[in-house]
Amino acid sequence: MQMHRQSLNAYGAPLCETIVEAPQPQGTEALVRIVRCGVCHSDLHMQDGYFLLGDGKKLDVQAGRTLPFTLGHEIAGLVESIGPDADAEPGAKVAVYPWIGCGRCAACGVGDENICTAPRHLGITVDGGFATHVLVPHSRYLIDYAPLTPGYAGALMCSGLTAYAALKRRLPGLNVMGGCCGTDHRHVEQMAMACKPLWGQSN
Ligand SMILES: [Zn+2]
Ligand SMILES: [Zn+2]
Repeated sequence: MQMHRQSLNAYGAPLCETIVEAPQPQGTEALVRIVRCGVCHSDLHMQDGYFLLGDGKKLDVQAGRTLPFTLGHEIAGLVESIGPDADAEPGAKVAVYPWIGCGRCAACGVGDENICTAPRHLGITVDGGFATHVLVPHSRYLIDYAPLTPGYAGALMCSGLTAYAALKRRLPGLNVMGGCCGTDHRHVEQMAMACKPLWGQSN
């Protein structure tokens, strides 16, 4: 089976289609057929190869990525196939948590894979979602998104988590949401709107 990708072949240039054989999931891996993948502002910076820091300063972000590369980290789709040790149902509708760590460093050891020192972040350091398929290293990164739409569910994996983190920081004493953002996204939105007058102009 082939997979089609919109690949970053050169920084500062438009993405181009590349076609490769889809990987066969091994062990705990799952192959997800992508239904929606959001375009994050970070994708535009990575396509440029740098972030602007103001005053003409740039942060180069070309390191740690081999071209051609597949950007995209706001992914939702269907489980296409799984490895023999994966715990996922083929055909299940899932959002894909992209902030995947190495599983061995101190940050990963306490569950902070998003700040891993050797990250495997989908669409950032390993191939992501601007494609027909994405390979996910473990089924625990797959989140049932019912009853949301796939476009909304995918965007929550970056935009939604950013808002969630801001709420947690601003309202540490308010237990508005238990678990991860996959528990009930409607509450995230409702609470964000309800709390907006309380947490300043910058949000
Ligand atoms: Zn993002
Ligand atoms: Zn790690």
